[in-house]
Amino acid sequence: MNPYWLEEPSPARPEAKIDGRADVAIVGAGITGCSAALRLAEAGLRVRVHDARGIAEGASGRNGGFALAGGAARYDVARDTYGADRAAAFWRWTHDGLDRLAELAGDALRRTGSYRLAGDEEEREGIRLEYEALREDGFDAEWLDDVPGGAAGRFHGAISHPHDGSIQPARLVRRLAAAATAAGAEFREHDRVEDLDALDSERVLVATDGYGHGLVSELADLIWPTRGQVIASEPLDRVLYDRPHYARQGFDYWQQLPDGRILLGGFRDTSILDELTDVEETTPAIQSSLESFLHELAGEKVAVTHRWAGIFGLTQDMLPLVGEVPGRDGRVWVAGGYSGHGNVLGFACGQLVADAMLGRESPQLELLTPERFER
Ligand SMILES: Cc1cc2nc3c(=O)[nH]c(=O)nc-3n(C[C@H](O)[C@H](O)[C@H](O)COP(=O)(O)OP(=O)(O)OC[C@H]3O[C@@H](n4cnc5c(N)ncnc54)[C@H](O)[C@@H]3O)c2cc1C
Repeated sequence: MNPYWLEEPSPARPEAKIDGRADVAIVGAGITGCSAALRLAEAGLRVRVHDARGIAEGASGRNGGFALAGGAARYDVARDTYGADRAAAFWRWTHDGLDRLAELAGDALRRTGSYRLAGDEEEREGIRLEYEALREDGFDAEWLDDVPGGAAGRFHGAISHPHDGSIQPARLVRRLAAAATAAGAEFREHDRVEDLDALDSERVLVATDGYGHGLVSELADLIWPTRGQVIASEPLDRVLYDRPHYARQGFDYWQQLPDGRILLGGFRDTSILDELTDVEETTPAIQSSLESFLHELAGEKVAVTHRWAGIFGLTQDMLPLVGEVPGRDGRVWVAGGYSGHGNVLGFACGQLVADAMLGRESPQLELLTPERFER
């Protein structure tokens, strides 16, 4: 079955073509590639985007639709791992990224807020530490012992993040692609790149996140393809979940869509090693776990209308890789490896890598540089 998001018809997009050699060839027309293409084209560069499939048909059109600020790790853990100042600056930068995304998204983003839920007492202690760290550093977050709606009485506490939102990710990315086209970027869909050296461009940006495994050999051990699976139900006639909810360290995530469907993903830990793959297929074990949980969330048996899988890129330290690929003489650049958290990060990192290619400095580049794995 098709991802629910991609069933929405793609609006007609006027063609843009650049003649001859591009300044930048981008591989991947997901949120990262489209965000970077827009930034670079607006700066006057000649940009050509290549995708093996259509726009947004990778993870960017197959995800949970959560638009969360912050990184993939818990904030208190991020402070311990990356350093307090760097973690705070990184979190702030993602909040700003979400605000910039909202300016372009139109009705593809709803600013609903989100709930991070504790599945048990141990997780409650963990997210309580996160909540306290967020408040200490001035981030907007609220502690709830229980949440309203369909999750009431089922969890062990929650952080409410009022800044977050819910996106129709395919609509959003197609909108970014349309804006990039209007700025002069050329899109070549259904055009698989086998060899970066064969691209007629000064520089190349690899924006393939979990899909491009092997395209850049140096990245093969740094970004691990990981599968996520999702289901969507038939529309329900009542609102049980008014915003994105996630629990068990993000292993389970769900939201109710404007048409009443529950979209639910996760349960990767049901067979975690099997999910370290770039085979984009659903599996019976995870699908049946998702389905049982869906019935619990709905409070009754509801029909599943959509099932799909998508691939994202996981990194060792849960931070993306953004910048020049070392040892490639400044020709090959990368932005990817969002560890399942790439809607806002993909947009922000697309802009960040574009800015870096334009010679604009940012403190985030030092944190996210691929060189960190060489040290
Ligand atoms: C099931 C699932 C649920 C998720 N839920 C969320 C969520 O709720 N919130 C969140 O923030 N993040 C979520 N993520 C992560 C998020 O979707 C990704 O991090 C993000 O979409 C990555 O965007 P991207 O543009 O970097 O890559 P993608 O959107 O994956 O695009 C990469 C593109 O590269 C193309 N490509 C690959 N190789 C080649 C090649 N050789 N030649 C040409 N083209 C190529 C692919 O066709 C693809 O279109 C989820 C991911 C999955 C899989």
